[in-house]
Amino acid sequence: MLSQVTAWPHISTGDLLRQHIAAGTPEGQASLGILRGGYAPDVVVNDLVAQRMALPDCQNGMILDGYPRTLEQAVQFLPVLRGHGIEPLLVRLQLDYTEVKVRLQGRRFCSSCGAIFNVVRLPPRTPGLCDECGESLAERVDDQADFVGKRLDHYATLTEPVAQYLSAQAIRSWEFSGLETPAAILNKLIKQLQEHSLVEPRTSIAQ
Ligand SMILES: [Zn+2]
Repeated sequence: MLSQVTAWPHISTGDLLRQHIAAGTPEGQASLGILRGGYAPDVVVNDLVAQRMALPDCQNGMILDGYPRTLEQAVQFLPVLRGHGIEPLLVRLQLDYTEVKVRLQGRRFCSSCGAIFNVVRLPPRTPGLCDECGESLAERVDDQADFVGKRLDHYATLTEPVAQYLSAQAIRSWEFSGLETPAAILNKLIKQLQEHSLVEPRTSIAQ
């Protein structure tokens, strides 16, 4: 939604890695652990993001989703960004682990069009079928209960330090409650981006 409003491309490292795994590339081979709740090697992720950022659509900004995910990635990435004259902004969505588990374990995706549903929070009109295209919905293996605990442990030990590091580096950080609706969070975020002159004042949410 933010990408549609700002025209900044949405770069999800998880999606990039899963595409490489599906295509059987060396980067994908090295990252198979993510399918079972692990993290991909830092060097692989750093290279993929650097390649993606070099494309022309990133010239005016980009949304990095799931990156930097480790301290090592953050330490590598920040000087690269600053070398390009880009000052990052960290946006955090605050959510307690009980709700995180409900969302991950209930998440279903359409392998045809990519639409995402949740059996508890955002059920499709017909159980098991995509509202957009009618194809069957699937579950990510790493969203299954066995792997969610592992992912939360990784978050606490590997990802939480990234926020501390960025804060020590005086990177701006904004926090929003993840319990609000996506549209409400987007509105607040756009408003703050406008107040800080990071997007055009006329930017608004297309309905
Ligand atoms: Zn679909």
